[in-house]
Amino acid sequence: MTEANTSTPSSKRHRWAMSPTVRISMGLVSLLIGLLMILDLILKILPDQRAMTMELREQIAVHLAVQVRRLLNEEQNPIKLQSVLVETVEQSADIQSLAVRRQSGAVYAATALHEKTWETPPLGASTLNAVVVPLNAGDKRWGQMEVGFRSPWPASILGWLKNPTVQLIGTLSTACFIAFYLYLRRVLQHLDPSKAIPERVRVAFDTLTEGLLVLDIDGQILMANSAFRGFHPQAGGILLGRSIDQLEWLVKGLKDDDALPPWERALTTSEPILGVPVDLTEKDGEHRRALLNCAAVRDAAGNARGCLVTLDDITEIDLVNRRLQETMTELEVSRDKIQKQNEELQLLANCDPMTGCFNRRAFFSRAEPMLAHALKTGEPLTCFMTDIDKFKSFNDTYGHSVGDLVIQQVARILKAAMRPQDVLCRYGGEEFCAFMPGLDEAAAAAVADRIRETLEKEAGPAVDAVPNLRITSSFGVAQLGKGNANNALLLIERADQGLYAAKEAGRNQVQCIDWHPGKAPATH
Ligand code: GH3
Ligand code: MG
Ligand code: MG
Repeated sequence: MTEANTSTPSSKRHRWAMSPTVRISMGLVSLLIGLLMILDLILKILPDQRAMTMELREQIAVHLAVQVRRLLNEEQNPIKLQSVLVETVEQSADIQSLAVRRQSGAVYAATALHEKTWETPPLGASTLNAVVVPLNAGDKRWGQMEVGFRSPWPASILGWLKNPTVQLIGTLSTACFIAFYLYLRRVLQHLDPSKAIPERVRVAFDTLTEGLLVLDIDGQILMANSAFRGFHPQAGGILLGRSIDQLEWLVKGLKDDDALPPWERALTTSEPILGVPVDLTEKDGEHRRALLNCAAVRDAAGNARGCLVTLDDITEIDLVNRRLQETMTELEVSRDKIQKQNEELQLLANCDPMTGCFNRRAFFSRAEPMLAHALKTGEPLTCFMTDIDKFKSFNDTYGHSVGDLVIQQVARILKAAMRPQDVLCRYGGEEFCAFMPGLDEAAAAAVADRIRETLEKEAGPAVDAVPNLRITSSFGVAQLGKGNANNALLLIERADQGLYAAKEAGRNQVQCIDWHPGKAPATH
């Protein structure tokens, strides 16, 4: 059986046991009733029911005796007297039997059961149930009147409960019990239950910087250390004897989704509940943050007897953490900014600002590994050089700005035609150079010719500033390893020779310098 299982029946047993307050209240009530009875014995403060009944019965008996004497004076007729006596008994709930007895002891007249039930009082004095009244004739005693009463004491418990004295004591006891209970419950809150915790332990707890509460099984505070009392303005009041659930500032601040508060959960599980965040907002709006930990205190049998609750102020750490987080975010933002600036710088360093094409430096740094790879693997690598035909005339006719626009449109079309693995650069004024891995000279010449066609068709109309502008370009293609082209510069030089040939042959065409002898220079 786990600790969690054993703790539940124990706590139930504890809850149903009579609380000390009830027991003390009952003791006080018993003491009070006892004292009342002793006082009554001495001072007779309670009404004496017996004496009152006796007095009443004697009066009734005397009254009856007077009636009987009058009847006897009128006429000494025992039969008539008997019928009067019977009638009287029938009409009275209290009187059980009646008799008139002569001085000699002989019954003169009596009701039916008198002889059976009548108990002659000792020494001739009346008792509570048997009252004797003398009947005199002149100075001489003629006889006596005997009145037998029913017992005044109830025969059943219900009858006793209806007894005024019992009712008085019962009401008094109940009222006193309620008053004592309520008073003690209030007063015990103000007594210091922490006396149960040794002084040295309390002093040790007070040295802790963590707020600490010791709770009993019902969540009542047995001890709060000084750090806890200083935790919140509302924590400084009377804490001992109060339920932790009454500490609104703490309960409301709990940032915990669980329906049960952590101190109750700690009592039902064997594991302590750790690190429950608590947000405390004080009256002046100051915001504080704490972590709450709860652990059950168990007896030797493993039954939960109470709970230790600690509250750790992490406002400062939280603040530092938040600042750190903010700094981190700022650093990240500035890092991103720097990265962006670096990229821009890189772009500026690598690209030609007018066309966005790589400059020569960036071009060569990318072309070299391409070249090394092609030389190593034997895969084909081709280069094309292109130059805008009669470009000078654009400058001369429409001005430099239109010349720039022409270069930009040509660059745009060239870039769009490139595959991701190709690399293109603005080689000089209106000259561009590209390396295309994986293509042999025939395939590269075909590609170059398609680009040339696109340029012829699209570049001129794209220059809005001048309507019906016709722009063409000439291309020279060379393949790595052909002729003496076994490095970048030589390859470019051979492509340039192709370009020169294209210009010579009438422009707006592609020339391949290494084309197989015997074949006419290809125009793709
Ligand atoms: P060809 O068909 O033989 O190439 O004739 P072309 O007129 O294009 O001949 P050339 O190569 O001599 O002309 C290039 C001119 O381009 C020379 C230079 O003034 C001009 N140029 C170079 N760079 C730029 C530039 O960035 N912007 C403008 N607008 N003109 C430039
Ligand atoms: Mg030119
Ligand atoms: Mg030129």
